Amino acid sequence: MDRQFMMYLQPKYSIMQNKIIGAEALVRWRHPTRGMIYPDQFIPIIEENGFVQKVDYYIWAEACRFIRRCQEEGVTPCPISVNVSRVHLRDNECIGVLSDLIKSYTIPKRLLELEITETADDQQLSQKAMQLKDEGFTLLMDDFGSGYSSLNILLETPFDVVKLDKKFIENMMLSDKGKLILEQVVLMSEKLDLGLLAEGVETREQVEVLQGIGCDHVQGYYYAKPMPEEEFFALLKAQQKK
Ligand code: C2E
Ligand code: CA
Ligand code: CA
Repeated sequence: MDRQFMMYLQPKYSIMQNKIIGAEALVRWRHPTRGMIYPDQFIPIIEENGFVQKVDYYIWAEACRFIRRCQEEGVTPCPISVNVSRVHLRDNECIGVLSDLIKSYTIPKRLLELEITETADDQQLSQKAMQLKDEGFTLLMDDFGSGYSSLNILLETPFDVVKLDKKFIENMMLSDKGKLILEQVVLMSEKLDLGLLAEGVETREQVEVLQGIGCDHVQGYYYAKPMPEEEFFALLKAQQKK
């Protein structure tokens, strides 16, 4: 597993503090002959054949190992979020796997965050999310605004943080009406006591709009692309020396 699959980390920033506040773990497949293959090209396939479970477990373990490494090397770790494929929501295995990882790496649970993608109304998702929440995990709702029932899911599932989808942000920023909707989403998240993070932020203009409406947490190429662990570790370490 570990020879071909790798964890990349993409920093999340606070616009106001201009500081790293976390990172998302993203899988990369280094194919021996085909070179680097990106997740969009293989995740849907391995979700069909079940192999995604093994890949996810590996990335979750890598994220925990990274947090542990920070602690051992005197760098204050930031929360790392991992992607949880919908396949895991079908059985109970993932809760045990996550709890075991937290124990065996002896890291605080709050440092491992779980990203779950919204889709249409889904009892399975809500139930499993409730269980994970009861276990004390932090839940991030991935790709908010990309589906059709975002608000239903907010009602039914106890998410802690909402990640605004890249396309959703792009569309909303095209018009004044869109910006108004975005602003209301920020207000709604404040009222509901939900964290908010904008994904796929690529331009200075987007950063300014987001800052203007009070969305401070961002992730995107404007700040940094996903990078190998070593690079992210160096970045985090340098930030703490300042
Ligand atoms: P996602 O969870 O929505 O992850 C964000 C994707 O947006 C990542 O693509 C990231 O590299 C990309 N991105 C970040 N900032 C920008 C930006 O400013 N502009 C643009 N154009 N893209 C940006 P990536 O790494 O190719 O992953 C694609 C998708 O594959 C992820 O979307 C996620 O759904 C899935 N995925 C990635 N890693 C894993 C994993 O370990 N397990 C599972 N189950 N799924 C994964
Ligand atoms: Ca994600
Ligand atoms: Ca996303």
